[in-house]
Amino acid sequence: MSPHQQTHVIVGAGLAGAKAAETLREEGFEGRIVMIAAEPERPYERPPLSKEVLRGEAARETAFVHDASFYDERDIELVTGTAATAIDPGRFRVTLAGGRELAYDRLLLATGAEPRRLPVPGADLDGVRMLRTLADADALREQLRPGARVVVVGAGWIGSEVAASARMLGAEVTVIDRAKVPLEHVLGERIGAVYRDLHREHGVEYLPQTGVGAFEGDGRVSAVRTTDGRLLPCDLAVVGIGVAPRTELAEAAGLAVEDGVVCDERLGTTAPAVYAAGDVASAWHPFYGRHLRVEHWANALHQGPAAAQAMLGRPVVYDRIPYFYSDQYDVGMEYSGLAGADDELVVRGDLERREFVAFWLRDDRVVAGMNVNVWDVNQHVQALIRSRAVVDRAALADPGTPLDALVPATAAS
Ligand code: NAP
Repeated sequence: MSPHQQTHVIVGAGLAGAKAAETLREEGFEGRIVMIAAEPERPYERPPLSKEVLRGEAARETAFVHDASFYDERDIELVTGTAATAIDPGRFRVTLAGGRELAYDRLLLATGAEPRRLPVPGADLDGVRMLRTLADADALREQLRPGARVVVVGAGWIGSEVAASARMLGAEVTVIDRAKVPLEHVLGERIGAVYRDLHREHGVEYLPQTGVGAFEGDGRVSAVRTTDGRLLPCDLAVVGIGVAPRTELAEAAGLAVEDGVVCDERLGTTAPAVYAAGDVASAWHPFYGRHLRVEHWANALHQGPAAAQAMLGRPVVYDRIPYFYSDQYDVGMEYSGLAGADDELVVRGDLERREFVAFWLRDDRVVAGMNVNVWDVNQHVQALIRSRAVVDRAALADPGTPLDALVPATAAS
C-alpha cells in the first residue's frame, strides 16, 4: 500500500501523542492520522496544571500543545471523548467505545498513566481530589481560595507543587508524607530537607512519616484522620501518591508488559507495527542497558516524535538522558539523570541559600545532577553523565571550576 493510503492511529492524546501526530505530518506522511482522546479536550501539557494554570496566573488555553485549528489544518482526525477499548494486533484493528473499529497500518500507544488511589475509608468523599487532568486543575483552582484549609497527601512532585501553589494563593496547607522529607524517593534525605525547609518557611505544616487513616465527613470531606490518630480539619484534600502506567489495552492484546509496555530502543513493542511512547512506555535504553519508564514531560515531548520517526521506518534510537524540572515558590530546579538511594551526594554551592548544583555519584562517576536556582548548567550535567568520566570530587564541588571543564574533550565534542 502506498504511504498516502495508510492509516496511522495514535491512542492517547497527551503530549506524546500530539507530538507524534505533528511529527508524522512534518516528516511528510500523507496518509490518514487518527488520534483517539479519552478526554473531551485536545492535547495539553501537564506541567502548568500544578503551577501557573492552577494558580490562575496563566489561562488554561496556554496549556494546550497546539492551537485548536492545528489538527484540522494538518488533516489530523482528533476523536475526543472516546476511549479505545481494545486493540487487535493480529488484525491491525483498534476498537473504540461504542464498538466502532479502526484499521491501522501503524499504531502508537500513548495512553499515559493513571493516578493511584488511596485505599482508605472516605477516599470517595467530595473534596478529596487528585490532580492529573485539566478538568482536575479547573476544579481545584475554584477551591484554592485564601484561607481554605487544604491537606495534601504525598510529598512527591504533585504534592510539593500543589502545596506551593496553594500557599501562594493564600490557602492553609498541611502536607502528610510517609517519607522523612519531601521528594525523598528521588532526591534523598539531605536534598529533600531543602524542600522541607522551603515549604515550612512558606507556612506549610509538613508532617513526615505520617499516613492517612481515613477521610472523614458527611458527603464532603471535613477532616483527615492520620494513622497516628490526629484529626486535621480541612475543606479540601489533594492526594498525590504516584501514578500507574495505563497498560490494560496492551496487556489484553498480549503485548509484553512489565511496569509499562515493553519496547525496544526504537519504541517498537512486542507486536508488529505497534509502538509506545510517554509515561506508558518501558523502553530499552542503550545508555543504561536496561528498560526505563520515565514519567516526565520531557520524555513525552521527545519520545512522541521518536516513535513517529520509527513508525515511518526511519532509523531511530531513543537514548535521551531523563530530564525534568520543577518550580516551587521562588525556587526552580532542573534534574538530569537517574540516581539511587545509595549514590554519593556532592554539592556545589549553598544549600541554605537554595542556590546549588547537587551531583549524585556512583563508582566515582556522575549519574545524576540537579541545579537549583543556578541556570545554564544542565547541558553540562548531561554531558558529564554521558561521558561516564571519573570525576574529581573537589573540582565538582568547587563553583570556581566551570562544569564544562570537567567533561572530557572526547565526550564534549
Ligand atoms: P510521585 O512524584 O511519584 O510521588 C508519589 C509520592 O507519593 C511519593 O512521595 C510516594 O512516597 C508517595 N506515596 C506512594 N504511595 C503512597 C501511599 N499509599 N500513601 C502515602 N504516600 C504514598 O507522584 P505524584 O507526585 O503523584 O506525581 C504524579 C506523576 O506526575 C509522577 O509521574 C510525577 O513524576 C509527575 N509529575 C512531575 C512533575 C515534575 O516533573 N515537576 C510535577 C508534577 C507531577 P514513597 O517514595 O514512600 O513511595
